[in-house]
Amino acid sequence: MDHIDELARALARLPGIGPRQGKRFVYYLLSAPTSERTKLAELILSLGKDVRQCSECFRFHNETTTNVCRYCSDHGRDDAILMFVEKDQDLSAIERAGTYHGRYFVLGGVLTLSGKGAIREKELLQMVEKRLGNGLKEVVLALSATSEGEHTADRVRALLAPYRDHLKISELGRGLATGSELEYSDAQTLRAALINRREA
Ligand SMILES: [Zn+2]
Repeated sequence: MDHIDELARALARLPGIGPRQGKRFVYYLLSAPTSERTKLAELILSLGKDVRQCSECFRFHNETTTNVCRYCSDHGRDDAILMFVEKDQDLSAIERAGTYHGRYFVLGGVLTLSGKGAIREKELLQMVEKRLGNGLKEVVLALSATSEGEHTADRVRALLAPYRDHLKISELGRGLATGSELEYSDAQTLRAALINRREA
């Protein structure tokens, strides 16, 4: 296979990118200066070297020399509240909104109505057990206002059912329009959704 096709196919495997866009990227890169291609190649290579996955919340980071990220190792954050998000980009959106100062857990996906997808169920339960011993009072389900988000929230609620006596479960208030993905929500909307969170 020639390099153009090979790279186009590799790019087409990225989320949201189809074969045509893959090809567009390749032709853009062919016309770009060598320095730009080199920089991109180096950045991709460095992902495997410097970036770690946090052993607590499972987000990817290169902030600390240990596995635990800066949010999980920050003693100033509130141990009483733990937020579940689908993916790293959603966590970043919540951080940008700036009103949340509790802990996080990245589920690592969503569950679809057709039974596809997976979330970190075992690790989620381990984290809740651990944090309950550490003053945890509330879990916030911060999932996208989509059918997958709701389906995933149902599953998390079922997993947490044995803890209901000790744990408040809340979800983001629906300042978030139906169908909206957390990742693309603006800071003001997220702030309102957090303040208006309600028991789930
Ligand atoms: Zn972390």
